[in-house]
Amino acid sequence: MYILNFLNKFLTFCLGILFPVLCVACGKEGGYLCKNCLPKIWNKRCKYRISTKGGIHLDGSFFVFEYEKNSAVLKLIQKLKYTFSTEIAEILSEFLYAQFEDVLTEIQKSQNWAITFVPIYRKRFLWRGFNQAELIARIIAYKSGIPMHQYLVKTKNTATQVGLDSIGRIINLRGAFCVTREVRKNVILIDDVLTTGATMNECAKVLKRAGAEKVYGMVLCKRV
Ligand SMILES: [Zn+2]
Repeated sequence: MYILNFLNKFLTFCLGILFPVLCVACGKEGGYLCKNCLPKIWNKRCKYRISTKGGIHLDGSFFVFEYEKNSAVLKLIQKLKYTFSTEIAEILSEFLYAQFEDVLTEIQKSQNWAITFVPIYRKRFLWRGFNQAELIARIIAYKSGIPMHQYLVKTKNTATQVGLDSIGRIINLRGAFCVTREVRKNVILIDDVLTTGATMNECAKVLKRAGAEKVYGMVLCKRV
């Protein structure tokens, strides 16, 4: 184990020399988000952090930042999609956790809640090797003590939602998700971004059919 750990650190060190990690906000070398930019980004969080306008099936959503094209947070999310980086997953989870520590503590106390995440299609999962929403959900579950279950699987490889209007998105996602087990809890459904809400609503619909009473989304960025 010690050797493996050493090798891992050595490899990370070598990769760092060959491909230095740059701050997504200012381009400075040394980490995905430098010490100067982190507080600036955190200060951009929404004070109004809960939206009760969920949709037909979603009861509401919790969010940290407003969805803003080319924002540093979106860049981190994009990077996490294509690079398995525990550093980025931790930064993003910390944003979520810090924004909702009070809510999560209350939820944990009531013991009637579970955390889950928006799944990706199996082939995409195998190609990418991980699902960024799952990584974030795992860290949030660990920090809050709320149990996490994989309730959902994506059974249809849907076309990209980009460029579709809200009706097109709903049709595109129809029948794309199914549940793996009965859901006898209220659910916090974690994803990275929420734009039209079509994905979250489809997931909430399936979760409620399987027994969930309330389903709330929890995301980093939400189009408001
Ligand atoms: Zn920076």
